[in-house]
Formats: sequence, C-alpha cells, structure tokens
Amino acid sequence: MSLTDDEITRASASVAHNYHPLPVVIAQGEGAWVTDVEGRRLLDMLAGYSALNFGHGDKQLLATAHAQLDRLTLTSRAFHHDGLATFCAELAELAGMEMVLPMNTGAEAVETALKTARKWGYRVKGVPEGRAKIVVMDGNFHGRTLTVVSFSDDPEATADYGPFTPGFVRVPYGDIEELRSAVDEDTVAVLFEPIQGEGGVIMPPPGFLRELRALCTDRNVLMIADEIQSGLGRTGRTFACDHEDVVPDVYLLGKALGGGILPVSAVVSRRDVLGVFRPGEHGSTFGGNPLACAVGTAVVRRLKEGDLQERAARLGTVLAELLAELPADAVSAVRSRGLWAGVDVRGRSGRDVCEGLLRRGVLAKDAHGQTLRLAPPLIVEEEDLRWGMGRLAEELTAGQAAG
Ligand SMILES: *Cc1c(COP(=O)(O)O)cnc(C)c1O
Repeated sequence: MSLTDDEITRASASVAHNYHPLPVVIAQGEGAWVTDVEGRRLLDMLAGYSALNFGHGDKQLLATAHAQLDRLTLTSRAFHHDGLATFCAELAELAGMEMVLPMNTGAEAVETALKTARKWGYRVKGVPEGRAKIVVMDGNFHGRTLTVVSFSDDPEATADYGPFTPGFVRVPYGDIEELRSAVDEDTVAVLFEPIQGEGGVIMPPPGFLRELRALCTDRNVLMIADEIQSGLGRTGRTFACDHEDVVPDVYLLGKALGGGILPVSAVVSRRDVLGVFRPGEHGSTFGGNPLACAVGTAVVRRLKEGDLQERAARLGTVLAELLAELPADAVSAVRSRGLWAGVDVRGRSGRDVCEGLLRRGVLAKDAHGQTLRLAPPLIVEEEDLRWGMGRLAEELTAGQAAG
C-alpha cells in the first residue's frame, strides 16, 4: 500500500504549490537508495538534480559535517574563520584557477558571475557605463532569481514576474555563427551550460565549446560556464568543459559542491576577473560559512582522487548501452554523457513515465514535456543501475502496450 496523491496533498496543505512532486514521501536515504514513510525502497535516479553525486549519507562527508557542527558553524564574513582559505585554495586548485567567491545556492553563484562580468566590463574592458551586454542561450536554465529568469525563454519561469532586468541577448544554443554576430564591443560575457540540464540534457554540437573559447578570447569577452549541474564528476570528467579540453574564464559550481548536505556554491576564476571586487561590493551572510567550507573541502578532496570521475565514465558506457536497448518505438531520442541521460519518450509525457517508474521502484524526473532525465548518484552500483534501467525498459514497453 502507498499513500494516494490526495492523502499527500491534504497533509501538505500549508506547502506553497511551486512544485508538483511525485506522490512519494521519502524518510531516509543511503547510497543510491531511499526509503519512503511506508518502508518501500526506491532507487534514486535523480540524485537531487546532481546535488547528490556522492549519494545519500556518504560516511566521510557526514563525519566531516558532524565534526564541524560540533566545533563552529557560522561566523559571517565580518571575521576570518579557519576553514575559508583552505576551501578556496583547494577548490581553485581543482579547477586550475586562482580565486573563489563562495555563495550558497546556484542562482546566487550565477548572480555573482553576472555582477562580476559587468564590473569587469566597466573596470577592466572599458565598456561605457550602463552599456554592458551579456549573451545567453535559448533553452537556458540558470536558476530562479528575478535577474536570472529575466533571460529565460521558459514561459512558466517568467509569467507575471516582469519588469525584467535588461542587458541580455539570447542566441540559439550551440550556434557559433549567431553568437559571433551577437557579440559586440559592449559584450562582457557569454553565459552558457556546457550541457543543458533542465533543457533535457542537451549537448551542443561537437567543437562548439572550443569555438566559443576562441571567440571569447578573440573578442575579450568572459566565457562563463555554468557547471552547477554538469560539473563535479557527473559527465565522467571533473567539468563538462573538459570533454573538449576547454577552460572557461569562470566556472559556476553548486549542487554537488555541498555534498548533498547543505547549499554551497562558488564562482571560480582568475585573479584578474574576481579581483574586481572591493570590500562591501558583494556578499552573503552564509556564503563561505564554516560548515559549508568543511563539507566543500571534503567534496573537493574526494574529487581530487579522480576515481569518481572514472567511475562515472565507466558506468556511463554501461548506461549508454542500456539506453540503446530501450524499446525503439517508445523513445524518439536518447542522449547521455557519463551518468547523465535524457530520454525523449514517444506518445506520452515524461511525467507519466516517472509516475510509472515510481510504481516500479525508481525515482526519476521529467524535463520539459516529453523528456525523462536520469542522473543517478555517481556511487551507484552497476547492478543497481542495470536494475533501474530494466524497470525503465519495462515501463516503456507497458506504456506501448497500453497506448
Ligand atoms: C540548479 C541549477 C542552477 C540553480 O541552482 P539553485 O541551487 O537551484 O539556485 C543554476 N544553473 C544550473 C545549470 C542548474 O542546474
């Protein structure tokens, strides 16, 4: 027996309806598995949109968090604390950069990068005051703040939120020629996702990241890679940009940086970029707090070992094989990189497939409309991954028979 949608809705009457969760109430998690309030075990193939890359309840991350909780949790940035410099230095080193500006949520990292780019534009590039322009992509997802949704093309994300922040120009994702014409002398940055996650795990054409790198270098424009979902091992490399051996000017990190324990995000760049900030010009009460730095440092050290990236790459090959074996008439396209996949389903919504998967013991999430997105924790066991994909194949076959 499981709770009905109605029962859950009644119990949640005081929760604002800005989400439409699947009808499952989770009580516990371990590794790639969660247990609901009725004791049913479910395989987590969403992993908190990549915030749970290390799985639920990673022993080492939890031990780090517990120890830090007992020692010091918050100082504010009005004072130094003994974990901030280490976190920033080790994260910068992992990224091959020089400086880190820690924030909390992903959207705050994006906001921080937009402010960085404008300030860099005026103070370093010499763009006339008030003219800075930032180029973004169609189908982007960079978070939910008012400025960030100002350049979204998703009607759900923008309806009734205007007036919006000006200064953004949108071009088709992966179209280098459109980008070339959009960039002018007032352009300070190009903000992009190396793989569009919320867009449905969409990859740009091969070579695009390299061409974008060359364009940004040529025109003295900051290349800002939003790796909040794609980064930190998900695709089989530390960063999705690594697949084309491209180093952007700015990495935006979040989600997995908090180890699935608390929100931790960061803007990671060079000194000539992040050096534009002077005291008082930007900040956050919780940004870079002792607990965040302790967990973030443990995450960075985990990734420095490299085995999780290798694991994601190896299991990514397994995932790609299993995707190719899905019933061909039930899917119109599959895309994957590492342990991250988008499956475009035919004849039914992604939501409908997710509801069916839930009944079969697998948690996943639709992206827009017809797309199912899969992102299991990087620590998932191969046999569990195979089991989950088996349930998906079953569900798609059953859907075909019913339709
Ligand atoms: C999740 C996400 C964000 C926003 O992060 P929040 O922590 O939800 O504010 C920004 N960019 C990308 C690519 C994301 O996936």
